[in-house]
Amino acid sequence: MEWWVSMPKIELHAHLNGSIRDSTLLELARVLGEKGIIVFSDVEHVIMKNDRSLGEVFKLFDLIHILTTDHKTVTRITKEVVEDFASENVVYIELRTTPKKNDSIGMSKRSYMEAVVEGLRAVTSVDVDFVPHNFSTQDSLNPIVMNDACDGTKRKKIYVRLLLSIDRRETTEAAMETVKLALELRDLGVVGIDLSGNPVVGEWNTFLPALTFAQEQGLYITLHCGEVPNRKEVLPMLDFLPQRIGHAIFFEEEEWRQLKTSKIPVEICLTSNIKTESISSIDIHHFVDLYNAKHPLVLCTDDAGVFSTSLSNEYNIASAAFGLGKREMFELAQNGIDFIFAGDEVKQDLVEIFDLAAKKLN
Ligand code: 5GP
Repeated sequence: MEWWVSMPKIELHAHLNGSIRDSTLLELARVLGEKGIIVFSDVEHVIMKNDRSLGEVFKLFDLIHILTTDHKTVTRITKEVVEDFASENVVYIELRTTPKKNDSIGMSKRSYMEAVVEGLRAVTSVDVDFVPHNFSTQDSLNPIVMNDACDGTKRKKIYVRLLLSIDRRETTEAAMETVKLALELRDLGVVGIDLSGNPVVGEWNTFLPALTFAQEQGLYITLHCGEVPNRKEVLPMLDFLPQRIGHAIFFEEEEWRQLKTSKIPVEICLTSNIKTESISSIDIHHFVDLYNAKHPLVLCTDDAGVFSTSLSNEYNIASAAFGLGKREMFELAQNGIDFIFAGDEVKQDLVEIFDLAAKKLN
């Protein structure tokens, strides 16, 4: 097995509906096609297209949401996504998703999230730890054990924590509803809030009250920041002091300076940035500048399904493009422990997992 696959990894920026398998998406489209709800031949090429601009990506998300937004499918894709990440030795993932409401099928933001949690419970290929230790009880529905398989070998385990996304199309009230839901679901592994959605839509001030409330209540915050040039938004976002930001592409000099001073960790999504043409070529990616400045960084997939990538692939790409060796890439993955939103017990466990793996590194 290649080292970038076998080494333990931490995923901190993965959108649930962006991580869906192509095969599942096509299957769902075919079923809706047969029911006459969509015309399959119209959407097949949209799903299979490889390179999309950022605008086209958001059109695809609208289609994905038509295909996936019922409770059973949400449960299924959650299970598949966690199993896919675990299969490439991701040992900790923060999965983010936008809670959706659809009155016509009796879906509320809460029932959407319950379907996600059901998906975590449905995973069979690996042990899933999603209930924070301070909330877990002996008769918890998901007992946290690193159980031995029948043959005496340890079973794989993945930690999963959830972030609820606020979509930039939402109103202040809708954003607040998501934050309140996150607070109610803390005992099911919700640790924070993400601001995402089409970056040319919506205004920072619309989301600020909900994000401020979330921060006051002790939820962690990560913001999509600087995906498009927006002088009105980047500095206020950095002033807000989120625990992490995603992308950080279109920054002006002053914004870079403030980012570096603040030491806010950046979630870097190489393939996503290149495929959406937000960055024209990997050799001018800001990863290099931030890495050389020892700025806190973590490699992530963004949308593994939509961009046909995996976290292992992102490590392989970074290694090849930036001339970093196995040991440097391992350290980069290990440093991610410092930026996770789960508690100290999980961090300690991850430290041990990486220490053990480091001994096998040659
Ligand atoms: P979901 O929240 O439905 O599980 O995942 C898909 C959603 O995540 C998209 O509809 C969009 O709101 C958000 N998303 C996925 N990828 C990106 C990205 O690259 N940039 C931004 N700003 N939002 C994204």
